[in-house]
Amino acid sequence: MSRIQQLSPAVINKIAAGEVIERPSSVVKELLENAVDALAGRIEVEIVAGGTELIRVADDGQGIHPDDALLTVSSHATSKIESADDLFSVHTMGFRGEALASIAEVSQFSLRSRQEKAQRGFELEVNAGRAGEAKPCGCPVGTVVEVRNLFCNTPVRRKFLKTHATEFGHVTEQFTRIALAHPRLHLVLRHNRKVVYELPAAAGLLERLRLFYGTELADKLIWVESEHEGVRLWGYVAHPSESKSTAKGQYLFLNGRWIQDRSLNHALREAYRGLLMVGRYPVTYLFLEVPPESVDVNVHPTKSEVRFRDSQVLYRQLLSTLRKKFLSVNLDGGLDLNGGGPEQQPENVTPPVTPEQHTQAQQDLVAWAGEQLSAWKPANSGASWDMPPRAVPLPPSAVNLPDQRADATPHSDGGEGEPTRRTGAAHPTSPNADCPRAMQVHDAYLVVETDEGITVIDQHALHERIMYEHLRSRVLARDVESQRLLLPDTIEMSPAEAEVLVERAELLAEFGLGIESFGGGTVLLTSYPVMLAKADLRQLLLDILDRLTGGEQPTRRDLVDELLHMMSCKAAIKAGQRLSPEEIESLLEQRHLVDDAHHCPHGRPTALVLSRTDLDRQFGRLG
Ligand code: ADP
Ligand code: MG
Repeated sequence: MSRIQQLSPAVINKIAAGEVIERPSSVVKELLENAVDALAGRIEVEIVAGGTELIRVADDGQGIHPDDALLTVSSHATSKIESADDLFSVHTMGFRGEALASIAEVSQFSLRSRQEKAQRGFELEVNAGRAGEAKPCGCPVGTVVEVRNLFCNTPVRRKFLKTHATEFGHVTEQFTRIALAHPRLHLVLRHNRKVVYELPAAAGLLERLRLFYGTELADKLIWVESEHEGVRLWGYVAHPSESKSTAKGQYLFLNGRWIQDRSLNHALREAYRGLLMVGRYPVTYLFLEVPPESVDVNVHPTKSEVRFRDSQVLYRQLLSTLRKKFLSVNLDGGLDLNGGGPEQQPENVTPPVTPEQHTQAQQDLVAWAGEQLSAWKPANSGASWDMPPRAVPLPPSAVNLPDQRADATPHSDGGEGEPTRRTGAAHPTSPNADCPRAMQVHDAYLVVETDEGITVIDQHALHERIMYEHLRSRVLARDVESQRLLLPDTIEMSPAEAEVLVERAELLAEFGLGIESFGGGTVLLTSYPVMLAKADLRQLLLDILDRLTGGEQPTRRDLVDELLHMMSCKAAIKAGQRLSPEEIESLLEQRHLVDDAHHCPHGRPTALVLSRTDLDRQFGRLG
């Protein structure tokens, strides 16, 4: 071992740069945050060659005092905090005093700045950590930072950079986060001298989102808002139909700072559970405002991960706010979402429903639907698939659920004593009403006349949803009806695969699937769930195996979820299947029994609505 030496500031800065400055977009993030902290109203970002040649950020903020010129690029020099206590009441984006020092260490850096009252500004150049002298110069009020040849003296870092397009993609993402968190900022982004974004100051988040992502998405945004023990949550969440294949559309800001948080992401996934297809992610723009002392932002050099004093409370608030909202808006395709923000939409006009109330009602409804389903014998209606009996009352808690649709479309079939349903969908029928007029088209869709207009239902998706709820309630009650095979089916696979499958035999048994090892690569199927009597069971097991062997091992919970999806899909009537009038009637009557009749378990809509008004307008019957 050699003797211990104090590292030079240059080495310290390089180490810090390694943590904070990973690529051009990290520089853009730091410079944008500094401009925001300087209370700029307008910020222009100019990028050349993905940021590898030039990054230039110009703001019209408060500027820097000339005497502080050298301090800006000294490490641990900041104007934003003074003492360790301040770390727990940070109101600015920056506070570590590290960014400019790090950037200047690994690039050709220049800074020009002028404060409002000053006659002249100053200019400072730093070449790979070697600072020149600050010189007076003429410049507008505000600050301009230029960063050329990033990583010029750390060739390894430079080699790891991706194509200009990829690097610029990361820059755009950082720019987007600032743009969404600060709608009132006028922002410009140029790449290779072409304007990519020119965002004038917007009145609010929705206006900015509209400009950024277009009207189509903006029209499908739902305003959410809640306040609990000093924590305010607000923002927009998109209709499930706007989902994405990655989590990139999920924006979460904490006190104006973009953050990533596993627990809160999980809450989001839970809120959308059952509304999205497997592997799809919601699009959300959510803001949390918490007292600065209840969160530690000093956990991560880039501050994108934070530590909450009580993350459970936030988790519950996020989940219940979204769930409650989804219950109160109409998620049917084609209908108004009432996504208006606070400007357009008075919130909380409906009687509040506690999450407990909701969950209880939901569970009762599902359990009850399950009972109805299991009590029913296929022979009763002549249907070739499983359906519960008709015209039966809803469970008490579902009936008593306060009407949360006051801000959704008016409910026209709600007479006295009519059970209140969870959404404002145009129901094809009510339990006691005469059967609606309906027809099957293309052996795949049911077209139903409703009080509001016309509803087009995807027969497979709806039946799948019904079967899903049925199966779920039975699995929860550990009461899946299962049929033993007199002669077990043998299914061949590799010995390793057989082992993986048999390992999960206990869980599969909860779904009514009896699995035993027969040695080697042979697995015996000894029993199957009654609801899958007509399904290809061998294929089902192979599908399950695919899931168990492809990539990451699913947790028990994920596997339960996927089994519910797979099995309800296989049990449901298919598109292309001609239905008898009795079958159509039976299917429609079950529509309101399920927890969410508007989406199949994969999240596809089960129904689209064409309102009477739409029809009248299309045919020129309205003025
Ligand atoms: P931090 O933001 O953590 O304080 P930085 O290294 O990013 O650290 O910046 C150092 C200091 O330089 C800041 O505290 C601030 O006083 C000053 N500064 C940097 N950028 C700007 C800017 N665009 N406008 C005004 N002051 C700035
Ligand atoms: Mg900073």
